[in-house]
Amino acid sequence: AKGCGKNVFALFDKRMNEHASERVTLLADLRQAVELGQFVLHYQPKVDLLTGKVTSVESLVRWMHPRLGMLAPDKFIRLAEESGMIAELTAWVLRTACLQAKAWQDANLAPVRVAVNLSPFHFQRQDVKQSVCAVLEATGLDPTLLEIEITESALMQNDEYTCRVLRELREMGITISVDDFGTGYSSLSYLHRFPINTLKIDRTFILNMMKSSEDQAIVTAIIAMAKSLKMQIVAEGVESVDQLEALKDQGCHEIQGFLVSRPVNAERVARFFTDEDHL
Ligand code: C2E
Ligand code: CA
Ligand code: CA
Ligand code: CA
Repeated sequence: AKGCGKNVFALFDKRMNEHASERVTLLADLRQAVELGQFVLHYQPKVDLLTGKVTSVESLVRWMHPRLGMLAPDKFIRLAEESGMIAELTAWVLRTACLQAKAWQDANLAPVRVAVNLSPFHFQRQDVKQSVCAVLEATGLDPTLLEIEITESALMQNDEYTCRVLRELREMGITISVDDFGTGYSSLSYLHRFPINTLKIDRTFILNMMKSSEDQAIVTAIIAMAKSLKMQIVAEGVESVDQLEALKDQGCHEIQGFLVSRPVNAERVARFFTDEDHL
């Protein structure tokens, strides 16, 4: 039994080492990836439930890894945050998204905003306002065509400083959205202090709302709260017509999810930029 225990530990140790060395390799790759241009942005439309028109597209980063293929953000965002690489990655995402939005605008497509996810790490350590201003200036994009998504938990961590930065961005005409809403237990009075345009109801509530009356009740409460604060409401992760109908009945303003489109490349998402009804 003694020997057995030792083997278990040896195996555990080996796995840990493998895991650690995978991380080291991936981190080394990540350091080069921005320089080598291995990231791409995909875009997912948000559609107004009354008009069926696209209001905004969310940019979602993918890493075209030379050996591992296309990696989703859950495989590398955390690593980028922990290693400090997130600053460079975010700078790339912001610049690429704004350049793309400007190109769409120049092509005379119906105007849609482009939304960029900002990591809480980025918010704590970087001068967000300065980097956003620099990108808008360099790309010539109208600030009203840029949207920032910040998670509810990031909002709750930072408070005073975040509030000030968001207010400055908002004053420039940038749209501020709170992502993954409903998971962070924000109160009405708390939210009210922030200059927020939009609440995005977290995907897990939408996923369960048709089968759980509790989740349905949470969705109803979030919509009522957002309306009382004059905020726009987006439901994320909408996959079925049933969900769409229920959300419409509740007075939700916009939906985003596979029902309308998966995240797709810039060329493919542009087909949504028309005055047509996309529902
Ligand atoms: P998020 O901001 O909540 O983005 C929505 C995620 O839900 C995306 O996953 C999207 O593909 C997925 N999704 C959209 N509609 C549906 C649906 O109907 N059903 C299901 N099952 N999923 C749906 P993705 O692209 O893998 O991104 C995951 C997360 O990675 C994002 O969650 C965001 O937090 C983070 N992320 C993505 N791009 C960036 C970025 O450029 N910067 C930072 N800091 N984070 C990013
Ligand atoms: Ca988001
Ligand atoms: Ca989300
Ligand atoms: Ca329709």
